[in-house]
Amino acid sequence: MNPSNTSTEPGATAPERATAPSNFIRDIILDDLKTNKFQGRVQTRFPPEPNGYLHIGHAKAICLDFGLADEFGGHTNLRFDDTNPSKEETEYVDSIMEDVKWLGFHWDGLFYASDYFDQLYAWAVQLIKAGRAYVDDLSADEIRKHRGTLTEPGKDSPFRNRSVEENLNLFERMKAGEFPDGSRTLRAKIDMASPNLNMRDPVMYRLLHTEHHRTGNKWCIYPMYDYAHGQSDSLERVTYSMCTLEFEDHRPLYNWFIQHLGIFPSQQIEFDRLNLTYTLLSKRKLLQLVQEKRVSGWDDPRMPTISGIRRRGYTPEAIRNFCGAIGVSKTTGSIELAMLEHFVREDLNKRAPRVMAVLRPLRVVIDNYPENQVEEMDAVNNPEDASAGTRKVPFSRVLYIEQDDFREDPPKQFFRLSPGREVRLRYGYFVTCTRVVKNDQGEVVEVHCTYDPATRGGNAPDGRKVKATIHWVSSAHAADAEVRLYENLFTGEDPNRTEVGQDFTANLNPHSLEVLSQCKVEPSLAGAAPGTRYQFERLGYFCVDRDSSPGKPVFNRTVALKDTWAKIEKKAK
Ligand code: ATP
Ligand code: MG
Repeated sequence: MNPSNTSTEPGATAPERATAPSNFIRDIILDDLKTNKFQGRVQTRFPPEPNGYLHIGHAKAICLDFGLADEFGGHTNLRFDDTNPSKEETEYVDSIMEDVKWLGFHWDGLFYASDYFDQLYAWAVQLIKAGRAYVDDLSADEIRKHRGTLTEPGKDSPFRNRSVEENLNLFERMKAGEFPDGSRTLRAKIDMASPNLNMRDPVMYRLLHTEHHRTGNKWCIYPMYDYAHGQSDSLERVTYSMCTLEFEDHRPLYNWFIQHLGIFPSQQIEFDRLNLTYTLLSKRKLLQLVQEKRVSGWDDPRMPTISGIRRRGYTPEAIRNFCGAIGVSKTTGSIELAMLEHFVREDLNKRAPRVMAVLRPLRVVIDNYPENQVEEMDAVNNPEDASAGTRKVPFSRVLYIEQDDFREDPPKQFFRLSPGREVRLRYGYFVTCTRVVKNDQGEVVEVHCTYDPATRGGNAPDGRKVKATIHWVSSAHAADAEVRLYENLFTGEDPNRTEVGQDFTANLNPHSLEVLSQCKVEPSLAGAAPGTRYQFERLGYFCVDRDSSPGKPVFNRTVALKDTWAKIEKKAK
């Protein structure tokens, strides 16, 4: 397994594993290597159920599964956990493969739990013959009632002591399709009084007359997750099977099947699942958002899916760095969404070329600038990266600036353009506002300025200072653009916290998307390719969306820069 060289992401570099801090799973592996527990082998798997798109929580598991194996020269399989035929689709399989690759990882083996259906069936027969499994005629409801509770033991099913012959016969006939859905199950014969409910004769197979995306109509009995997972790990000779903490109580059952089948002892290790503030990480709920059209699809840039944050402009490097920094533990907590955004900014700061874009344009006329003159100003592409070089930006008599950068009646701490005030136009000149033009509603629609020709490039030879530098684009040269601004999809830190009778959709943020369609951008952006990322100076990081058309680019705001003025204004309120 060799992360990243063939990544679909142009700028992707190998994950920075060498610097990653240690964690308890790595410590377990290091100990096992000392005792030669698995003959020095490290093998992992990533086991998504293809019933939805991957999200940032899965990225944590992926970085762990692939990252640890890679660190120890091991192998990682991608295995689709496709034991439930009714919810799974090829669209999801394809998107999962694309997302894992995009994150910069490459699997060794590609498997499906359904590849093992014949073997799992044979093993079930083996357990029946050993008196360790039986066919039960109780309904799902009755099984639940017999199970007992945390404080009360369960009750044996009246069918628990069927003979091996009868069990073999019935199981064979279940497989042959003689019985309707729900009428029978195959259960492991363990202990109805176990303090662990998972050990109270768990169901191994259920009847489901449903077509499967890979096995078609071959099967009408399907194995449960707990019966399939450990054995699939074992078949692939997985040494470390990492999963989230809710499976801790399933580990005795995972081990029980392996022990009674006498097969390779893969080791299950549980870690904390990722929770992020203002974010839902549940495929079921994300599917609901898609189905109810609360978002435009699985890859809506507001979604926490890998495809959503990719479209929004997040980089695989930022996601991997974030996953490395949050680490893994044995206690579930919640990570600030702001921390993920921090890693996105940090990565984009290094790589995103700077450009000027005006989102809410205000016309500026420089009255003393020659009518037909155009100057090509030198602009730095990335102050963090000298090799990124410079570019030419056209400057002329009529420009656009942000409406926000002008105040007719400026508050005390507002240092940008206002009547009588001199500011610097980035890479341009010092300009001083002389007057404004208003519309019938009294709104400022045009600002008039004079410029000082001696300040070309942005410095005054007499050493006089200005307190603000603002960005601009030349009216005659600018390209029109649409910009989509995103806020958190949910208003509450915990979107699951709702009033009685409401579901999580009550917490959807009605302002999570704002579309600005009158934006003006540097001419160089007119034909920018989808997926290209920029820093719009002073505004944030933006990524070209696939909805762009020739001459009309569409940008997604990936993440805003920290806005000091907004902070000051907020404090004042
Ligand atoms: P969901 O609850 O979103 O449906 P899942 O656990 O059912 O997630 P799977 O496709 O079964 O999704 O998960 C594949 C792997 O990803 C599993 O090993 C699972 O433990 C891990 N995983 C899923 N969600 C998270 C998360 N939020 N944080 C860390 N790992 C996760
Ligand atoms: Mg699952």
